[in-house]
Amino acid sequence: MQSLIDHARTFHKRVRGDREQAATLREGASPQAMFITCSDAQVIPSLITGARPGELFELRTAGNVIPPYRLGRLTAEAATIEYAVNILGVEDLIVCGHTHCGAVQGRVRSWTLRSAPTTRWWLLQTHRWREARVTGDEEPGRAHLIAQLDKLRRYPRVARRLAGGRLRLHGWFYEVHTGVVSNYQPETGAFTPL
Ligand SMILES: [Zn+2]
Repeated sequence: MQSLIDHARTFHKRVRGDREQAATLREGASPQAMFITCSDAQVIPSLITGARPGELFELRTAGNVIPPYRLGRLTAEAATIEYAVNILGVEDLIVCGHTHCGAVQGRVRSWTLRSAPTTRWWLLQTHRWREARVTGDEEPGRAHLIAQLDKLRRYPRVARRLAGGRLRLHGWFYEVHTGVVSNYQPETGAFTPL
């Protein structure tokens, strides 16, 4: 922890020394895309994409779970997605799953979450999970990601903008051990390299 504190304490000096970054921070954020991914410490959106400060609007949850949209139901995820689409006007939504996801593994083997009932119930919101076929040693994170994309498409404003061609939805899958990022192809169901 101490190294984190030390870095934060001297961060302002590095910002001052990086004129481009300082200018970006002064101008405020104008994100190119919304990046929805897992809270896992190994998944660093700015490292994967090379995004500079202000370029990505992030939403992170355990297992990159997006709750089903229900009118009148308040969730942090729905509010954050709404803000990105309605207020910031982002034109690209990226949902990024990853290999060896502890939350997804916990969903597959629910016994691993016995001491975390809130997390377990949260993950059960992947309501289409049971319809996603996962066999043998296949990485369950891909089927899990597809379920999240399906839910995101049902958010009313997202659905309208997708239909109007004003929004693009991307399903990425990040292999933590290799760094390879693949892209979901809804037409074929395949994941192909970016
Ligand atoms: Zn994860």
